[in-house]
Amino acid sequence: MMNRLIVKRVAANTYRLKVPGKFYYSEAVTKVTGSNHVQSINEQKEKQSFSNNTQQYDIAIVGGGMVGMALACSLASTPLTKQLKVAIIDSNPALGSTLCIKKEDPPDPRVSTVTPATISFFKDAGAWKYVEQNRHAYFDKMQVWDYTGLGYTRYNARDIHKEVLGCVVENKVLHSSLLSCIQNMDFQKTIYPSRLTSMTSHPGSASTMADGTPSRTELSAQGHLAKLELSDGTNLYAKLVVGADGAKSRVRELAEFRTTGWNYSQNAVICTVEHTVENHSAWQRFLPAGPIALLPVGDKFSNIVWTMSPEESTKRKSMGEDDFVKDVNHALDYGYGPHPKSSLFGNSDMFSWLRMDTTSSANLCFEVPPKVVNLASQRMVFPLSLLHANDYASRRVVLIGDAAHTVHPLAGQGVNLGFGDAFALSRVIAEGIAVGNDIGEVQLLQKYEAERKLANITMMAVLDGFQKAYSVDFGPLNILRAVAFHGANYISPLKRSIISYASGEQRLPLFT
Ligand SMILES: Cc1cc2nc3c(=O)[nH]c(=O)nc-3n(C[C@H](O)[C@H](O)[C@H](O)COP(=O)(O)OP(=O)(O)OC[C@H]3O[C@@H](n4cnc5c(N)ncnc54)[C@H](O)[C@@H]3O)c2cc1C
Repeated sequence: MMNRLIVKRVAANTYRLKVPGKFYYSEAVTKVTGSNHVQSINEQKEKQSFSNNTQQYDIAIVGGGMVGMALACSLASTPLTKQLKVAIIDSNPALGSTLCIKKEDPPDPRVSTVTPATISFFKDAGAWKYVEQNRHAYFDKMQVWDYTGLGYTRYNARDIHKEVLGCVVENKVLHSSLLSCIQNMDFQKTIYPSRLTSMTSHPGSASTMADGTPSRTELSAQGHLAKLELSDGTNLYAKLVVGADGAKSRVRELAEFRTTGWNYSQNAVICTVEHTVENHSAWQRFLPAGPIALLPVGDKFSNIVWTMSPEESTKRKSMGEDDFVKDVNHALDYGYGPHPKSSLFGNSDMFSWLRMDTTSSANLCFEVPPKVVNLASQRMVFPLSLLHANDYASRRVVLIGDAAHTVHPLAGQGVNLGFGDAFALSRVIAEGIAVGNDIGEVQLLQKYEAERKLANITMMAVLDGFQKAYSVDFGPLNILRAVAFHGANYISPLKRSIISYASGEQRLPLFT
Protein backbone atom coordinates (compact mmCIF):
# COMPACT_ATOMS: atom_id res chain seq x y z
CA MET A 1 0.00 0.00 0.00
CA MET A 2 1.31 3.44 -0.92
CA ASN A 3 1.82 5.87 1.95
CA ARG A 4 -0.28 9.03 1.70
CA LEU A 5 1.80 12.17 1.78
CA ILE A 6 0.21 14.95 3.79
CA VAL A 7 1.33 18.45 2.91
CA LYS A 8 0.30 21.04 5.43
CA ARG A 9 0.64 24.79 5.04
CA VAL A 10 1.79 26.15 8.37
CA ALA A 11 2.80 29.69 7.45
CA ALA A 12 3.15 31.80 4.40
CA ASN A 13 5.69 30.09 2.14
CA THR A 14 6.20 27.28 4.64
CA TYR A 15 4.89 23.71 4.39
CA ARG A 16 5.25 20.57 6.45
CA LEU A 17 5.29 17.08 5.03
CA LYS A 18 4.12 13.98 6.83
CA VAL A 19 3.73 10.30 5.93
CA PRO A 20 1.18 8.61 8.19
CA GLY A 21 2.63 5.74 10.23
CA LYS A 22 6.19 6.83 9.48
CA PHE A 23 8.55 9.42 10.76
CA TYR A 24 7.45 12.92 10.20
CA TYR A 25 9.51 14.09 7.35
CA SER A 26 11.63 16.73 8.91
CA GLU A 27 11.92 20.41 8.64
CA ALA A 28 9.36 22.94 7.56
CA VAL A 29 10.55 22.52 4.05
CA THR A 30 9.81 23.76 0.64
CA LYS A 31 7.61 26.17 -1.09
CA VAL A 32 7.04 25.49 -4.74
CA THR A 33 8.00 28.59 -6.57
CA GLY A 34 7.29 28.16 -10.24
CA SER A 35 8.96 24.89 -11.14
CA ASN A 36 11.84 25.18 -8.63
CA HIS A 37 11.96 23.79 -5.11
CA VAL A 38 13.57 26.52 -3.07
CA GLN A 39 14.76 25.77 0.44
CA SER A 40 13.09 28.18 2.77
CA ILE A 41 14.98 30.58 4.95
CA ASN A 42 12.90 29.25 7.83
CA GLU A 43 14.34 25.79 7.32
CA GLN A 44 17.88 27.01 7.36
CA LYS A 45 17.30 29.03 10.50
CA GLU A 46 15.59 26.10 12.20
CA LYS A 47 18.38 23.71 11.21
CA GLN A 48 20.96 26.17 12.50
CA SER A 49 19.21 26.54 15.84
CA PHE A 50 18.69 22.75 16.07
CA SER A 51 22.34 21.97 15.58
CA ASN A 52 23.40 24.68 18.01
CA ASN A 53 21.07 23.64 20.80
CA THR A 54 20.85 19.87 20.62
CA GLN A 55 23.22 17.00 21.13
CA GLN A 56 23.40 15.05 17.92
CA TYR A 57 25.18 11.73 17.47
CA ASP A 58 25.71 9.19 14.78
CA ILE A 59 25.06 6.36 17.23
CA ALA A 60 23.49 6.29 20.69
CA ILE A 61 24.34 3.08 22.55
CA VAL A 62 21.76 2.58 25.29
CA GLY A 63 23.36 0.31 27.89
CA GLY A 64 27.07 0.38 28.62
CA GLY A 65 27.32 -3.19 29.91
CA MET A 66 29.82 -5.66 28.46
CA VAL A 67 28.06 -5.89 25.10
CA GLY A 68 27.40 -2.15 24.64
CA MET A 69 31.05 -1.42 25.48
CA ALA A 70 32.21 -4.13 23.07
CA LEU A 71 30.31 -2.35 20.29
CA ALA A 72 31.87 1.01 21.25
CA CYS A 73 35.30 -0.60 21.32
CA SER A 74 34.87 -2.23 17.96
CA LEU A 75 33.62 1.03 16.39
CA ALA A 76 36.58 2.89 17.93
CA SER A 77 39.10 0.44 16.51
CA THR A 78 37.74 0.23 12.95
CA PRO A 79 39.09 2.84 10.49
CA LEU A 80 35.71 3.46 8.82
CA THR A 81 33.78 3.90 12.09
CA LYS A 82 36.29 5.54 14.44
CA GLN A 83 35.22 9.01 13.22
CA LEU A 84 31.63 8.45 14.30
CA LYS A 85 30.22 10.53 17.14
CA VAL A 86 28.91 8.09 19.73
CA ALA A 87 26.85 8.56 22.91
CA ILE A 88 26.84 5.83 25.58
CA ILE A 89 23.93 6.03 28.00
CA ASP A 90 24.07 4.10 31.28
CA SER A 91 23.76 5.09 34.92
CA ASN A 92 26.09 2.27 36.03
CA PRO A 93 28.86 3.98 38.08
CA ALA A 94 31.41 1.53 36.62
CA LEU A 95 31.41 3.66 33.46
CA GLY A 96 32.66 6.68 35.35
CA SER A 97 35.75 5.21 36.95
CA THR A 98 38.66 3.00 36.16
CA LEU A 99 38.63 -0.29 37.96
CA CYS A 100 41.09 -0.86 40.73
CA ILE A 101 41.42 -4.57 41.48
CA LYS A 102 43.58 -5.59 44.39
CA LYS A 103 45.43 -8.82 43.74
CA GLU A 104 44.73 -10.05 47.26
CA ASP A 105 40.93 -9.74 46.90
CA PRO A 106 39.15 -12.98 45.96
CA PRO A 107 37.56 -13.00 42.49
CA ASP A 108 34.09 -11.53 42.06
CA PRO A 109 31.36 -14.20 41.70
CA ARG A 110 30.14 -12.66 38.40
CA VAL A 111 32.38 -14.23 35.77
CA SER A 112 32.06 -15.23 32.12
CA THR A 113 33.65 -18.08 30.25
CA VAL A 114 34.78 -16.46 27.05
CA THR A 115 35.31 -18.53 23.93
CA PRO A 116 38.35 -18.44 21.60
CA ALA A 117 36.16 -16.52 19.09
CA THR A 118 35.52 -13.82 21.72
CA ILE A 119 39.23 -13.70 22.61
CA SER A 120 40.02 -13.05 18.91
CA PHE A 121 37.41 -10.25 18.77
CA PHE A 122 38.94 -8.65 21.87
CA LYS A 123 42.44 -8.96 20.41
CA ASP A 124 41.35 -7.38 17.11
CA ALA A 125 39.73 -4.48 18.98
CA GLY A 126 42.81 -4.02 21.19
CA ALA A 127 41.05 -4.90 24.46
CA TRP A 128 42.55 -8.31 25.30
CA LYS A 129 45.84 -6.83 26.52
CA TYR A 130 43.90 -5.13 29.33
CA VAL A 131 42.27 -8.45 30.29
CA GLU A 132 45.70 -10.05 30.46
CA GLN A 133 46.87 -7.36 32.91
CA ASN A 134 44.22 -8.62 35.36
CA ARG A 135 43.24 -11.98 36.80
CA HIS A 136 41.99 -14.45 34.19
CA ALA A 137 42.20 -18.22 33.82
CA TYR A 138 42.66 -20.04 30.53
CA PHE A 139 41.61 -23.68 30.54
CA ASP A 140 42.37 -26.39 28.03
CA LYS A 141 40.43 -29.28 29.56
CA MET A 142 36.83 -29.88 30.46
CA GLN A 143 34.90 -32.84 31.89
CA VAL A 144 31.13 -33.24 31.63
CA TRP A 145 29.21 -36.08 33.31
CA ASP A 146 25.89 -36.78 34.94
CA TYR A 147 24.62 -38.18 38.22
CA THR A 148 23.48 -41.53 36.78
CA GLY A 149 27.08 -42.74 36.45
CA LEU A 150 26.36 -43.97 32.91
CA GLY A 151 28.79 -41.79 31.04
CA TYR A 152 31.16 -38.87 30.88
CA THR A 153 32.95 -36.81 28.24
CA ARG A 154 36.38 -35.23 28.44
CA TYR A 155 37.32 -32.45 26.08
CA ASN A 156 40.80 -31.23 25.35
CA ALA A 157 41.87 -28.23 23.28
CA ARG A 158 44.42 -30.51 21.58
CA ASP A 159 41.51 -32.41 19.98
CA ILE A 160 40.98 -29.42 17.71
CA HIS A 161 44.64 -28.39 17.57
CA LYS A 162 44.04 -25.35 19.74
CA GLU A 163 45.83 -24.25 22.89
CA VAL A 164 42.78 -23.33 24.95
CA LEU A 165 39.08 -24.16 25.16
CA GLY A 166 38.28 -20.81 26.75
CA CYS A 167 39.14 -18.35 29.45
CA VAL A 168 37.23 -17.46 32.63
CA VAL A 169 37.27 -13.72 33.39
CA GLU A 170 35.45 -11.63 35.96
CA ASN A 171 32.73 -9.54 34.28
CA LYS A 172 34.16 -6.38 35.85
CA VAL A 173 37.54 -7.14 34.24
CA LEU A 174 35.96 -7.65 30.80
CA HIS A 175 33.98 -4.44 31.22
CA SER A 176 36.86 -2.30 32.44
CA SER A 177 39.16 -3.66 29.71
CA LEU A 178 36.70 -2.49 27.05
CA LEU A 179 36.38 0.87 28.81
CA SER A 180 40.18 1.31 29.06
CA CYS A 181 40.48 0.39 25.41
CA ILE A 182 38.11 3.13 24.20
CA GLN A 183 39.52 5.66 26.65
CA ASN A 184 42.96 5.16 25.16
CA MET A 185 41.79 5.63 21.59
CA ASP A 186 41.09 8.75 19.62
CA PHE A 187 37.30 8.31 19.62
CA GLN A 188 34.51 10.88 19.99
CA LYS A 189 32.41 9.30 22.70
CA THR A 190 30.28 10.95 25.36
CA ILE A 191 29.08 8.96 28.35
CA TYR A 192 25.72 10.00 29.81
CA PRO A 193 25.34 8.69 33.38
CA SER A 194 21.58 8.42 32.98
CA ARG A 195 18.83 6.09 31.75
CA LEU A 196 16.72 6.11 28.64
CA THR A 197 13.10 6.92 29.43
CA SER A 198 11.54 7.56 26.04
CA MET A 199 12.38 7.42 22.39
CA THR A 200 10.52 8.86 19.43
CA SER A 201 12.01 7.14 16.46
CA HIS A 202 9.34 4.57 15.95
CA PRO A 203 6.58 4.73 13.35
CA GLY A 204 3.76 6.89 14.62
CA SER A 205 5.47 7.68 17.89
CA ALA A 206 6.62 11.22 17.13
CA SER A 207 5.06 13.61 19.61
CA THR A 208 2.50 15.99 18.25
CA MET A 209 0.93 19.24 19.29
CA ALA A 210 -2.73 19.54 20.16
CA ASP A 211 -3.68 20.21 16.53
CA GLY A 212 -1.98 17.01 15.42
CA THR A 213 1.04 18.65 13.86
CA PRO A 214 4.50 17.75 15.07
CA SER A 215 6.01 19.92 17.80
CA ARG A 216 8.74 22.37 16.87
CA THR A 217 11.59 20.34 18.35
CA GLU A 218 10.18 17.20 16.84
CA LEU A 219 10.14 18.80 13.45
CA SER A 220 13.83 19.48 13.69
CA ALA A 221 14.55 15.82 14.19
CA GLN A 222 11.99 14.24 11.96
CA GLY A 223 13.04 11.67 9.47
CA HIS A 224 16.76 12.02 9.93
CA LEU A 225 17.33 11.38 13.59
CA ALA A 226 15.79 9.49 16.49
CA LYS A 227 15.12 11.49 19.63
CA LEU A 228 16.02 10.05 23.05
CA GLU A 229 14.88 11.44 26.37
CA LEU A 230 16.94 10.56 29.42
CA SER A 231 15.93 10.33 33.07
CA ASP A 232 17.96 13.46 33.94
CA GLY A 233 16.02 15.52 31.40
CA THR A 234 18.68 15.48 28.66
CA ASN A 235 17.49 15.09 25.05
CA LEU A 236 19.74 13.56 22.41
CA TYR A 237 19.35 12.82 18.72
CA ALA A 238 20.98 9.98 16.85
CA LYS A 239 20.95 8.40 13.41
CA LEU A 240 21.03 4.97 15.02
CA VAL A 241 19.93 3.82 18.49
CA VAL A 242 21.48 0.56 19.69
CA GLY A 243 19.59 -1.25 22.45
CA ALA A 244 22.34 -2.91 24.52
CA ASP A 245 20.32 -2.49 27.70
CA GLY A 246 19.97 -6.10 28.78
CA ALA A 247 17.17 -8.60 29.22
CA LYS A 248 14.60 -6.01 30.33
CA SER A 249 15.49 -3.67 27.46
CA ARG A 250 13.68 -0.33 27.45
CA VAL A 251 14.75 0.21 23.84
CA ARG A 252 13.10 -3.09 22.86
CA GLU A 253 9.94 -2.06 24.65
CA LEU A 254 9.83 1.48 23.20
CA ALA A 255 10.54 0.24 19.68
CA GLU A 256 7.75 -2.34 20.15
CA PHE A 257 9.82 -5.38 19.22
CA ARG A 258 7.88 -8.48 20.18
CA THR A 259 9.55 -11.35 22.04
CA THR A 260 9.20 -15.11 22.47
CA GLY A 261 10.35 -16.89 25.62
CA TRP A 262 9.70 -18.65 28.87
CA ASN A 263 10.98 -18.95 32.43
CA TYR A 264 12.81 -22.14 33.33
CA SER A 265 11.53 -22.26 36.93
CA GLN A 266 15.18 -22.62 37.84
CA ASN A 267 17.59 -20.28 39.59
CA ALA A 268 21.37 -20.16 39.37
CA VAL A 269 23.34 -19.82 42.60
CA ILE A 270 26.77 -18.36 41.89
CA CYS A 271 29.78 -17.77 44.15
CA THR A 272 33.57 -18.00 44.38
CA VAL A 273 35.10 -20.96 46.20
CA GLU A 274 38.62 -21.86 47.24
CA HIS A 275 40.68 -25.07 46.93
CA THR A 276 43.98 -26.17 48.40
CA VAL A 277 45.41 -26.64 44.90
CA GLU A 278 44.99 -24.67 41.68
CA ASN A 279 42.18 -25.80 39.39
CA HIS A 280 43.07 -25.87 35.67
CA SER A 281 39.95 -27.54 34.25
CA ALA A 282 36.31 -26.66 33.70
CA TRP A 283 33.92 -29.20 35.23
CA GLN A 284 30.20 -29.66 34.78
CA ARG A 285 27.97 -32.31 36.31
CA PHE A 286 24.28 -32.66 35.47
CA LEU A 287 22.22 -33.27 38.62
CA PRO A 288 18.49 -34.07 38.84
CA ALA A 289 17.56 -30.38 39.40
CA GLY A 290 20.09 -28.87 36.99
CA PRO A 291 23.83 -28.65 36.24
CA ILE A 292 26.60 -27.53 38.59
CA ALA A 293 29.70 -26.01 37.00
CA LEU A 294 33.09 -25.46 38.63
CA LEU A 295 35.18 -23.04 36.60
CA PRO A 296 38.80 -22.04 37.24
CA VAL A 297 39.24 -18.30 37.92
CA GLY A 298 42.93 -18.15 38.77
CA ASP A 299 45.10 -18.80 41.85
CA LYS A 300 43.36 -21.39 44.03
CA PHE A 301 39.88 -20.06 43.27
CA SER A 302 37.01 -21.43 41.21
CA ASN A 303 33.58 -20.10 40.33
CA ILE A 304 30.41 -22.10 40.96
CA VAL A 305 27.31 -21.78 38.76
CA TRP A 306 24.73 -24.14 40.25
CA THR A 307 21.26 -24.44 38.72
CA MET A 308 18.45 -25.61 40.98
CA SER A 309 14.80 -25.04 41.86
CA PRO A 310 13.89 -21.61 43.30
CA GLU A 311 13.10 -23.23 46.69
CA GLU A 312 16.48 -24.96 46.85
CA SER A 313 18.26 -21.74 45.82
CA THR A 314 16.64 -19.82 48.69
CA LYS A 315 17.79 -22.52 51.10
CA ARG A 316 21.33 -22.73 49.70
CA LYS A 317 21.79 -18.97 49.66
CA SER A 318 21.04 -18.64 53.36
CA MET A 319 22.49 -21.89 54.81
CA GLY A 320 25.72 -21.79 56.85
CA GLU A 321 28.98 -21.59 54.87
CA ASP A 322 30.29 -24.97 56.04
CA ASP A 323 27.04 -26.70 55.09
CA PHE A 324 27.10 -25.02 51.69
CA VAL A 325 30.70 -26.17 51.03
CA LYS A 326 29.67 -29.70 52.08
CA ASP A 327 26.75 -29.58 49.63
CA VAL A 328 29.01 -28.40 46.78
CA ASN A 329 31.53 -31.21 47.35
CA HIS A 330 28.67 -33.71 47.56
CA ALA A 331 27.24 -32.44 44.27
CA LEU A 332 30.62 -32.66 42.48
CA ASP A 333 31.51 -36.12 43.82
CA TYR A 334 29.37 -39.08 44.95
CA GLY A 335 26.17 -37.16 45.71
CA TYR A 336 23.05 -38.22 43.77
CA GLY A 337 24.80 -41.22 42.10
CA PRO A 338 28.05 -43.10 41.41
CA HIS A 339 31.10 -41.96 39.45
CA PRO A 340 30.98 -43.08 35.84
CA LYS A 341 33.35 -45.89 34.97
CA SER A 342 36.06 -45.12 32.42
CA SER A 343 34.90 -48.09 30.38
CA LEU A 344 31.37 -49.02 31.20
CA PHE A 345 31.33 -52.81 30.93
CA GLY A 346 35.00 -53.63 30.46
CA ASN A 347 35.86 -54.55 26.88
CA SER A 348 32.34 -55.61 26.04
CA ASP A 349 31.15 -52.05 26.55
CA MET A 350 27.60 -51.82 25.09
CA PHE A 351 28.64 -48.52 23.56
CA SER A 352 31.80 -49.86 21.93
CA TRP A 353 30.15 -49.54 18.49
CA LEU A 354 30.39 -45.79 19.00
CA ARG A 355 34.18 -45.84 19.12
CA MET A 356 35.77 -44.66 15.91
CA ASP A 357 38.95 -42.78 15.28
CA THR A 358 39.10 -41.62 18.89
CA THR A 359 40.61 -38.27 19.84
CA SER A 360 43.48 -38.18 22.33
CA SER A 361 41.16 -37.11 25.17
CA ALA A 362 38.77 -40.04 24.60
CA ASN A 363 40.99 -42.40 26.57
CA LEU A 364 41.38 -40.12 29.56
CA CYS A 365 39.94 -41.55 32.77
CA PHE A 366 37.14 -39.93 34.70
CA GLU A 367 38.47 -37.54 37.34
CA VAL A 368 36.95 -36.13 40.52
CA PRO A 369 37.17 -32.30 40.62
CA PRO A 370 39.38 -30.67 43.26
CA LYS A 371 37.72 -30.43 46.69
CA VAL A 372 36.29 -27.09 47.74
CA VAL A 373 37.58 -25.96 51.15
CA ASN A 374 36.10 -22.46 51.55
CA LEU A 375 33.38 -20.19 50.34
CA ALA A 376 35.22 -17.04 49.19
CA SER A 377 32.43 -14.64 48.25
CA GLN A 378 28.79 -13.86 48.82
CA ARG A 379 26.27 -16.19 47.14
CA MET A 380 24.14 -14.57 44.43
CA VAL A 381 20.92 -15.92 42.92
CA PHE A 382 19.65 -15.34 39.35
CA PRO A 383 16.32 -16.53 37.95
CA LEU A 384 16.81 -18.21 34.55
CA SER A 385 14.79 -17.67 31.41
CA LEU A 386 14.94 -17.82 27.65
CA LEU A 387 13.92 -14.76 25.68
CA HIS A 388 14.29 -13.87 22.03
CA ALA A 389 13.24 -10.72 20.21
CA ASN A 390 11.31 -11.63 17.06
CA ASP A 391 13.13 -8.83 15.21
CA TYR A 392 16.45 -7.17 15.98
CA ALA A 393 16.19 -4.23 13.60
CA SER A 394 13.78 -1.53 12.55
CA ARG A 395 14.36 1.93 11.14
CA ARG A 396 17.00 3.66 13.32
CA VAL A 397 16.82 1.01 16.06
CA VAL A 398 18.75 -2.22 16.52
CA LEU A 399 19.16 -4.68 19.41
CA ILE A 400 22.29 -6.48 20.58
CA GLY A 401 23.23 -8.79 23.48
CA ASP A 402 20.72 -9.76 26.14
CA ALA A 403 18.31 -7.12 24.79
CA ALA A 404 17.94 -9.39 21.73
CA HIS A 405 18.35 -12.81 23.39
CA THR A 406 18.74 -14.29 26.86
CA VAL A 407 19.86 -17.90 27.21
CA HIS A 408 20.36 -20.51 29.93
CA PRO A 409 23.89 -20.18 31.38
CA LEU A 410 24.56 -23.94 31.26
CA ALA A 411 27.13 -23.63 28.47
CA GLY A 412 28.38 -20.13 29.31
CA GLN A 413 27.39 -18.74 25.92
CA GLY A 414 25.21 -15.68 26.72
CA VAL A 415 27.71 -12.86 26.58
CA ASN A 416 29.69 -14.60 23.85
CA LEU A 417 26.61 -14.40 21.63
CA GLY A 418 26.30 -10.73 22.62
CA PHE A 419 29.94 -10.04 21.69
CA GLY A 420 29.26 -11.77 18.36
CA ASP A 421 26.34 -9.35 17.81
CA ALA A 422 28.46 -6.31 18.72
CA PHE A 423 31.25 -7.16 16.32
CA ALA A 424 28.85 -8.14 13.51
CA LEU A 425 26.93 -4.87 13.89
CA SER A 426 30.11 -2.83 13.88
CA ARG A 427 31.18 -4.57 10.64
CA VAL A 428 27.79 -3.97 8.99
CA ILE A 429 27.89 -0.28 9.97
CA ALA A 430 31.38 0.01 8.44
CA GLU A 431 30.15 -1.67 5.26
CA GLY A 432 27.24 0.80 5.11
CA ILE A 433 29.56 3.77 5.54
CA ALA A 434 31.88 2.42 2.84
CA VAL A 435 29.08 2.61 0.26
CA GLY A 436 27.54 5.83 1.57
CA ASN A 437 24.44 4.30 3.20
CA ASP A 438 22.47 5.92 6.02
CA ILE A 439 23.51 3.83 9.07
CA GLY A 440 19.95 3.89 10.43
CA GLU A 441 18.39 2.42 7.30
CA VAL A 442 16.52 -0.78 8.02
CA GLN A 443 17.85 -2.57 4.91
CA LEU A 444 21.38 -2.17 6.23
CA LEU A 445 20.47 -3.19 9.78
CA GLN A 446 18.64 -6.26 8.47
CA LYS A 447 21.94 -7.61 7.14
CA TYR A 448 23.13 -7.68 10.74
CA GLU A 449 19.85 -9.22 11.87
CA ALA A 450 19.96 -12.00 9.27
CA GLU A 451 23.51 -12.98 10.21
CA ARG A 452 23.05 -12.94 13.97
CA LYS A 453 19.53 -14.34 14.23
CA LEU A 454 20.61 -17.58 12.63
CA ALA A 455 23.62 -17.95 14.94
CA ASN A 456 21.68 -16.99 18.07
CA ILE A 457 18.58 -19.11 17.41
CA THR A 458 20.71 -22.15 16.64
CA MET A 459 22.62 -21.80 19.91
CA MET A 460 19.39 -21.14 21.83
CA ALA A 461 17.83 -24.31 20.42
CA VAL A 462 20.89 -26.38 21.37
CA LEU A 463 20.97 -24.97 24.93
CA ASP A 464 17.23 -25.31 25.42
CA GLY A 465 17.43 -28.93 24.17
CA PHE A 466 20.17 -29.66 26.71
CA GLN A 467 18.23 -28.00 29.49
CA LYS A 468 15.17 -30.12 28.72
CA ALA A 469 17.06 -33.39 28.13
CA TYR A 470 18.78 -33.09 31.50
CA SER A 471 15.69 -32.03 33.45
CA VAL A 472 14.08 -35.47 33.35
CA ASP A 473 15.02 -38.51 35.40
CA PHE A 474 13.55 -41.36 33.35
CA GLY A 475 15.24 -44.74 32.67
CA PRO A 476 15.19 -44.82 28.83
CA LEU A 477 16.12 -41.16 28.63
CA ASN A 478 19.03 -41.75 31.00
CA ILE A 479 20.33 -44.45 28.62
CA LEU A 480 19.95 -42.08 25.66
CA ARG A 481 21.92 -39.45 27.55
CA ALA A 482 24.61 -42.01 28.26
CA VAL A 483 24.76 -42.81 24.53
CA ALA A 484 25.09 -39.10 23.87
CA PHE A 485 27.96 -38.82 26.37
CA HIS A 486 29.75 -41.74 24.77
CA GLY A 487 29.07 -40.40 21.28
CA ALA A 488 30.46 -37.04 22.29
CA ASN A 489 33.48 -38.71 23.87
CA TYR A 490 34.40 -41.31 21.27
CA ILE A 491 33.18 -40.13 17.87
CA SER A 492 35.99 -37.84 16.87
CA PRO A 493 34.29 -35.79 14.14
CA LEU A 494 31.32 -35.17 16.44
CA LYS A 495 33.57 -34.37 19.38
CA ARG A 496 35.69 -31.98 17.35
CA SER A 497 32.69 -30.19 15.97
CA ILE A 498 31.10 -29.86 19.44
CA ILE A 499 34.32 -28.27 20.72
CA SER A 500 34.58 -25.98 17.69
CA TYR A 501 30.95 -24.92 18.00
CA ALA A 502 31.26 -24.20 21.73
CA SER A 503 34.44 -22.23 20.91
CA GLY A 504 32.40 -19.78 18.90
CA GLU A 505 32.72 -21.19 15.40
CA GLN A 506 29.51 -20.95 13.44
CA ARG A 507 29.31 -24.58 12.27
CA LEU A 508 26.66 -26.77 13.85
CA PRO A 509 27.82 -29.64 16.09
CA LEU A 510 27.20 -32.29 13.42
CA PHE A 511 29.47 -34.39 11.30
CA THR A 512 30.68 -31.55 9.10
C1 LIG B 1 24.37 -16.92 36.49
C2 LIG B 1 24.80 -16.49 35.13
C3 LIG B 1 26.02 -16.93 34.63
C4 LIG B 1 26.44 -16.54 33.35
N1 LIG B 1 27.61 -17.03 32.86
C5 LIG B 1 27.99 -16.71 31.61
C6 LIG B 1 29.20 -17.23 31.04
O1 LIG B 1 29.97 -17.96 31.68
N2 LIG B 1 29.50 -16.90 29.75
C7 LIG B 1 28.67 -16.12 29.00
O2 LIG B 1 28.95 -15.91 27.81
N3 LIG B 1 27.53 -15.59 29.51
C8 LIG B 1 27.17 -15.86 30.79
N4 LIG B 1 26.02 -15.34 31.30
C9 LIG B 1 25.22 -14.40 30.50
C10 LIG B 1 25.79 -13.01 30.56
O3 LIG B 1 25.98 -12.59 31.91
C11 LIG B 1 24.87 -12.02 29.84
O4 LIG B 1 24.62 -12.53 28.55
C12 LIG B 1 25.53 -10.65 29.73
O5 LIG B 1 25.71 -10.07 30.98
C13 LIG B 1 24.68 -9.72 28.86
O6 LIG B 1 25.37 -8.51 28.67
P1 LIG B 1 24.62 -7.22 28.11
O7 LIG B 1 25.66 -6.15 28.06
O8 LIG B 1 23.88 -7.58 26.87
O9 LIG B 1 23.50 -6.89 29.18
P2 LIG B 1 23.67 -6.45 30.70
O10 LIG B 1 24.87 -7.06 31.32
O11 LIG B 1 22.35 -6.73 31.34
O12 LIG B 1 23.91 -4.88 30.62
C14 LIG B 1 22.88 -3.99 30.30
C15 LIG B 1 23.29 -2.58 30.69
O13 LIG B 1 22.23 -1.69 30.29
C16 LIG B 1 22.00 -0.76 31.32
N5 LIG B 1 20.59 -0.33 31.20
C17 LIG B 1 19.47 -1.04 31.45
N6 LIG B 1 18.38 -0.29 31.20
C18 LIG B 1 18.82 0.92 30.79
C19 LIG B 1 18.17 2.13 30.38
N7 LIG B 1 16.84 2.24 30.38
N8 LIG B 1 18.94 3.19 30.03
C20 LIG B 1 20.29 3.10 30.03
N9 LIG B 1 20.97 1.97 30.38
C21 LIG B 1 20.24 0.91 30.77
C22 LIG B 1 22.31 -1.49 32.62
O14 LIG B 1 22.69 -0.58 33.64
C23 LIG B 1 23.49 -2.39 32.19
O15 LIG B 1 24.75 -1.78 32.43
C24 LIG B 1 25.60 -15.70 32.57
C25 LIG B 1 24.39 -15.23 33.08
C26 LIG B 1 23.99 -15.61 34.35
C27 LIG B 1 22.67 -15.11 34.89
